[in-house]
Amino acid sequence: MEPQKQARTPGDPVAWPRGPSRSQTPDDEEGPEGNTAPAAAFLGAEADDACADALWELPVEPAERRPECSRCSRPQKVCLCPFLPLHPLHISTHLYIIQHPAEENKVLRTVPLLAACLPQDKCKVKIGRRFSEERDPELSTVCRKSDTLILYPGAEAANLEEFILDSPIYPSTIIIIDGTWSQAKDIFYKNSLFRLPKQVQLKTSVSSQYVIRTQPTNRCLSTLECAAAALSILEKNDYIQETLLRPLQALCSFQLQHGAQIRLSKEHLLKNGLYPKPMPKNKRKLRKMELLMNSVKI
Ligand SMILES: [Zn+2]
Repeated sequence: MEPQKQARTPGDPVAWPRGPSRSQTPDDEEGPEGNTAPAAAFLGAEADDACADALWELPVEPAERRPECSRCSRPQKVCLCPFLPLHPLHISTHLYIIQHPAEENKVLRTVPLLAACLPQDKCKVKIGRRFSEERDPELSTVCRKSDTLILYPGAEAANLEEFILDSPIYPSTIIIIDGTWSQAKDIFYKNSLFRLPKQVQLKTSVSSQYVIRTQPTNRCLSTLECAAAALSILEKNDYIQETLLRPLQALCSFQLQHGAQIRLSKEHLLKNGLYPKPMPKNKRKLRKMELLMNSVKI
């Protein structure tokens, strides 16, 4: 059986591995589903053999992470603070982000931008894969409250907008899982705590603006976009969504200006015969891909 990891908050004084060394391109880019792209990918057609040989002789970049801005957690050279609100937004909803540990070390992560826009006491990030009453009594209490929601799509999930119109108790807290599609699924289904709150989803026809990271389907939104949409619905204030999306738009625009490519969703690539990898041999994975191609919810 797999050893279970202790859930913790980002403030805990635990030394975590910082992941692989970063490429030193204008800004770091992640490949599909968060894999770090090799620096050579940016050289394009200009990298002929002689040039490539010369590159091998360049000194190896140090493995440490570049200095980060303490507010937005971006490398200082590409700090996004000018795009953040001057003061944290006033909200009454409490937001809990349940972050898969693999997400914490991703270069293009959106949760630090979200947290930088919100009051500290309204946005808590819990990192881990397994959560229980004993390990996290605070989260357990939150999950047991009748006015807590969890944002996770599925047949059981109510449409958030409709739910708040009919609900006798107005929601005070919303939980969002931050990870890839499969990591989020693992966290949601393997922690009984997350089945306690009312399950809700966003009914949106809007495509993700987080165009520099591959999303599985055309309708999948990044964690920041989900939080922005959910909070603007719960707070009945569209300004919240606009404000939260501003740093994401700035991040994407900067990355695109510096060589990043727009990443179409896996669904789009599959449907248009553009998927760059061979189809998986594993039957379960292949079935998932076929469902995606036929736009059936996975
Ligand atoms: Zn900053």
